[in-house]
Amino acid sequence: MQLEDMKKEIKALVIAKGFYNKPEDIPKKLLFAFIELGEASDAWKKGLPQEKIAEELIDVIFYILDASRLACPDMNMDEVFQKKLSKNLGRPFQYGEGHRLKQDEQTEK
Ligand SMILES: [Mg+2]
Repeated sequence: MQLEDMKKEIKALVIAKGFYNKPEDIPKKLLFAFIELGEASDAWKKGLPQEKIAEELIDVIFYILDASRLACPDMNMDEVFQKKLSKNLGRPFQYGEGHRLKQDEQTEK
């Protein structure tokens, strides 16, 4: 399932269950995404089964895609993902291990 398909499924769920569904609800949805991130982190720290961690991470995706549906309704999130992936792949090493290796090389000089 692609992101745009997921947005449609989430919209149907939101309408069926009477969840928040207005542009003014966007901050709540983004806050809920953060809360779900915390739940995922907590599940991981407690050593809960992977199924529970994955479920919490899916909750994050639900809220993010739901917020995107209202915040930028004209955007195709599959296209945005591909564009952003290409952009990130084209970036020089700046963070993470590649960055550290580069720093180490400079420190040795
Ligand atoms: Mg949850």
